[in-house]
Amino acid sequence: MSKRKGTLFVISGPSGAGKGTVLKSFLEQSGNEDVFLSVSATTRAPRAGETDGVNYYYKTTEEFESMIANDQLFEWASFCGNYYGTPKEPVLRMLEEGKDVILEIEVQGAMKVKEAYPVGVTIFVLPPSFEELRNRIVGRKTESEEVIDQRLKTAAWEFTHITNYDYILLNDTVEDASQRLKSIVEAERCRVDKNLNLIEEVLGK
Ligand code: 5GP
Repeated sequence: MSKRKGTLFVISGPSGAGKGTVLKSFLEQSGNEDVFLSVSATTRAPRAGETDGVNYYYKTTEEFESMIANDQLFEWASFCGNYYGTPKEPVLRMLEEGKDVILEIEVQGAMKVKEAYPVGVTIFVLPPSFEELRNRIVGRKTESEEVIDQRLKTAAWEFTHITNYDYILLNDTVEDASQRLKSIVEAERCRVDKNLNLIEEVLGK
């Protein structure tokens, strides 16, 4: 009997939309065993409280470019002056092992994944308002004014790509948004094409 392959979920949304918080709450609710949250590589400097190998793999530009050259990335993009990319090997291995994989990546990367891996499920996290987005980015006090400005401009551009996504996840409250994310993940797990092995099992073929 063939083993069930994992589903790839791609979550995007502008900086400050609260993707990380919603995901954290979702992972706490669902237990981490059957979901793998991919850790990206980046050339951005670590923020206070971030840990190498947990939040990101922090790389120099040379190291990152060598990962590109050696085809070690599932996707990558340049965002607000830094490289960000998804290490390929763990993602493909986890999917093959039947685990669902979540990538939390920006729009350009998400669109590349959609093209290269069309069975992936794309979700766009929307903040309750643009004003709230601004407040969140400014309020976390981790970026310079120039970077904040750049991130807000990028956010406006990212909003123009929402209709390319499969789902919209409004982050009004973290509880409701993570609950809705759970519903999306569970519904996608029930798709017929993801459960052909179950049919074989039940019908004894
Ligand atoms: P931040 O610097 O705020 O951690 O991330 C900036 C943006 O890069 C966010 O939108 C985040 O989702 C995105 N990002 C993080 N990792 C990756 C990745 O591996 N690939 C791409 N394309 N974007 C990423």
